[in-house]
Amino acid sequence: MVDLLQTKIEYLKGVGPKRAELLNKELGIFTFQDLMDYFPFRYIDRSQIHKVRQITDDTVYYQLVGTVSNMQCIGAPRVTRITATFTDDTGSIELVWFKGLKWIKNRFQPGKKYLIFGKASVFNNRFNFTHPDVEDYNPDDVLVGEALQGVYNTTEKMKNAGLGTKQLAKIIKTCVLQVWNMIPEVLPQSLILHDKLMPRKEAYYKIHLPSNSRDIQQATTRLKYEEHFFFQLRLLIHKKDREKNTRSVVFQQVGDYFNTFYKEHLPFPLTNAQKRVIKEIRADLKSGHQMNRLLQGDVGSGKTIVALMIMLLALDNGYQAALMAPTEILATQHLETLRAQLKGMDVHFALLTGSTKQSERKQILADLASGDLQIIIGTHALIEDTVVFKNLGLCIIDEQHRFGVAQRASFWDKTAFPPHTLVMTATPIPRTLAMTQYGDLDVSKIDEMPPGRKPVKTVHVFQEQRLAVIGFMKKQIAEGHQIYVVYPLIKESEKMDLINLQEGYEAMMRDFPEPDYHISVVHGQMKAEDKDWEMQRFVRGETHIMIATTVIEVGVNVPNASVMIIENANRFGLSQLHQLRGRVGRGAEQSYCVLITDHKITGEGKKRMETMVKTNDGFEIAEADLQLRGPGETQGTRQSGMIEMKIGDFQYDEPIIRHTRRMANLLLDADPTLSKPEHYATKQYFSQQFERDFDWSRIG
Ligand code: ADP
Ligand code: MG
Repeated sequence: MVDLLQTKIEYLKGVGPKRAELLNKELGIFTFQDLMDYFPFRYIDRSQIHKVRQITDDTVYYQLVGTVSNMQCIGAPRVTRITATFTDDTGSIELVWFKGLKWIKNRFQPGKKYLIFGKASVFNNRFNFTHPDVEDYNPDDVLVGEALQGVYNTTEKMKNAGLGTKQLAKIIKTCVLQVWNMIPEVLPQSLILHDKLMPRKEAYYKIHLPSNSRDIQQATTRLKYEEHFFFQLRLLIHKKDREKNTRSVVFQQVGDYFNTFYKEHLPFPLTNAQKRVIKEIRADLKSGHQMNRLLQGDVGSGKTIVALMIMLLALDNGYQAALMAPTEILATQHLETLRAQLKGMDVHFALLTGSTKQSERKQILADLASGDLQIIIGTHALIEDTVVFKNLGLCIIDEQHRFGVAQRASFWDKTAFPPHTLVMTATPIPRTLAMTQYGDLDVSKIDEMPPGRKPVKTVHVFQEQRLAVIGFMKKQIAEGHQIYVVYPLIKESEKMDLINLQEGYEAMMRDFPEPDYHISVVHGQMKAEDKDWEMQRFVRGETHIMIATTVIEVGVNVPNASVMIIENANRFGLSQLHQLRGRVGRGAEQSYCVLITDHKITGEGKKRMETMVKTNDGFEIAEADLQLRGPGETQGTRQSGMIEMKIGDFQYDEPIIRHTRRMANLLLDADPTLSKPEHYATKQYFSQQFERDFDWSRIG
């Protein structure tokens, strides 16, 4: 049977070759199925028209019909804002635009009726609409029985070519009516019954052409369920495959390296959390199967010593170990730590980065190949093809969020058996991500800080209070402490940011003149060696102040630094702010974090400052971060990393994810290779969608 769903869209009524090409290029839609999978991002409820007088809430959407008058262009000579008055028979409300001003200027005709849609916001104690959706109002658009209309994303190019939201909705409707009845079920019937799911074809129909909000809700749930279910099935199948088939080296014994270090070199007693994760890791290393573990611990929780100790385990069993960090500074710092802590032990280690000198590199490569070098520390230079190991048994990747899964895997080609892999991160992984992006990893957590740490005191101050901040800095320096000053550097405004940094540096030089004071400066545009040199001066305590962009965000450790000053703090995200603050509070002294902003910052920026002042807990901050970023950013998570979802959302679907993971597990327990007749369609779909060549006998 020909699969109608795979038909090219140019054969759909109302499309044709030209529009087909546009849909291909702009939205990646090629087939009827692709079109069916292009879901509305919201619905317009044509049945509900509100009145201006009814606006009482800044969290719900309103749809109004009325006229637009009194347009004003504000700002001279350059117009920065346009306002207008929107009026219906109950009152008026202000409309505001900051963008697309040219277009807005000529958008409205006096006396004509428009339909506007949006959330009201409060400004100067009054409601207004900022950037509302605007349409010409045509009462005939309201079709009986179709009160809810899907709104689809389109692009500028499509709009210009006459393929706007409305036209697209029409095309999709044609498609739905033609094919919905032929859409096959792919979930096992038992699941559909158990979880009372809407049948698949009905769901596709109703997500595009709902009659009421209940339709939307049930169709959405069903389609999300399906997508997460197959995603979890895929993760679990791979996990089982790996557990069953990926043999790895066995670290059977705890030998001299580990024991000597533990007895004679350990600089401090381990925390219970550190002891526990070392145990968890040891169990993996003995198992005979490849370890694939995520070690999560807040900044300053002491992941490095754990890394060091398990590398010694590799050595005890005759294997080499690699430690990869995202930046040269961090790699160098790891080298210094090793050098200090392994002092007096006979361990051969070296540093390999992009700026390692040719002659030295040659020697290192030779020593890695011969096995003379036991531990190699470095940046992604480590995964280049020229790096060959004699017998790599363990790789540790610090600060995972900078590396992708692909880089993790690239170590695995370097040996006959894939080495054990430990990924370390300070970024709290919300539970949903632990089941998804990292769903193929086991997770260990260091959930306890080393003793004697005082929580960092955080304050939020405004630019005008700068003088007081400088006074405070002088006092801290007089007490023998060091200070970080961090400036944002955001790609989009890099030039401006560098100027700010430069100006900040010059101002600091005036406030903290030599010879009494010394200042280091580090930013991303400097040569690696210069950066390193500046950084090292600070690490050695030769400079009092370190001015930097976010290069220090990840991992540096200077226990004597007790103050973190963050300029334009509102421009950083919460997790970044938390990472930065984590650079201080590492010694026994009281540490401080000073967030400096303008008076004028957005409500969200304010919330971020408040959160930082309120809590030191990384997990709490991660959760607040998710909440603050809100649905507007879901697109970002939907497509983060290698995973792209059609309708599922890792951030907001936690209950569904949790449930489908359990159901997928149950299914695989009952029928590991999905060979039972009642699972035929499920297996078929799985193979078609994801793993054409998956060898099912591997997990059978
Ligand atoms: P992170 O987890 O952020 O990588 P580090 O490994 O850099 O943290 O450790 C932060 C600081 O805490 C370092 O100065 C380290 O020497 C110290 N530290 C780690 N573990 C302990 C411990 N058990 N007791 C005391 N200090 C510790
Ligand atoms: Mg670290």
